[in-house]
Amino acid sequence: MNLRERVLDFVVDLAPLPAVPVAGTRKSFPVRRLYCVGRNYAEHAREMGHDPKREKPFFFQKASDSIVTDGVFPYPPASSDVHYEIELVVALKAGGHNIPAAKAKDIIYGYAVGLDMTRRDLQAEAKKAGRPWEAAKAFDRAAPLSAITPIEQSGLLVKGPITLDVNGERRQSGDLADMIWPVADIITELSQLFVLAPGDLIFTGTPAGVGAVKRGDRLHGEIARLTALDVTVT
Ligand code: MN
Repeated sequence: MNLRERVLDFVVDLAPLPAVPVAGTRKSFPVRRLYCVGRNYAEHAREMGHDPKREKPFFFQKASDSIVTDGVFPYPPASSDVHYEIELVVALKAGGHNIPAAKAKDIIYGYAVGLDMTRRDLQAEAKKAGRPWEAAKAFDRAAPLSAITPIEQSGLLVKGPITLDVNGERRQSGDLADMIWPVADIITELSQLFVLAPGDLIFTGTPAGVGAVKRGDRLHGEIARLTALDVTVT
């Protein structure tokens, strides 16, 4: 048996590759890693009880197979306080280490509207105990996403409205220009910690107005010039 045959001779079922549709095409964006930025809008930092001064951004990851593209978010177990966080998601077509801000736009494939769903009660417990956030952030189906719009169609997104409606009522409203760390700076900072690569997605933080969902809620997220995101909590 040669090496290639051996490598492909998996001993358990191969998990499906997570992927996101590309808007207006039959093509898909294959997902490698899913990075998230914490507290990147001042009003949201305040509502979470933090001082929104421009300290270094911090990052966490969600599981890449937690992506949801069918618009269905089953209420997860082990929590009674699951929150929505509407976010601009940046999809990378290239990567690297120590990427200067001026070069950041060269590695962007496109953008999506995403929800960084959060078990807020488990997150609060983890913060209090100084424990990791995975149970709060990286659970199954924790990352609903719209189709990805290539940057050739959207243009570089540095300003424009970002909103979330729940059952037809506006709950979150902000402007991409209000990010404490703009996308180019996020890419620079993140690439100092990790080697970025094609297929990576970056959730860029949520504006103020986060809140709890319940079964039956219909979430509708919009960001300037992108395909809207519609999700039902089941
Ligand atoms: Mn978030």
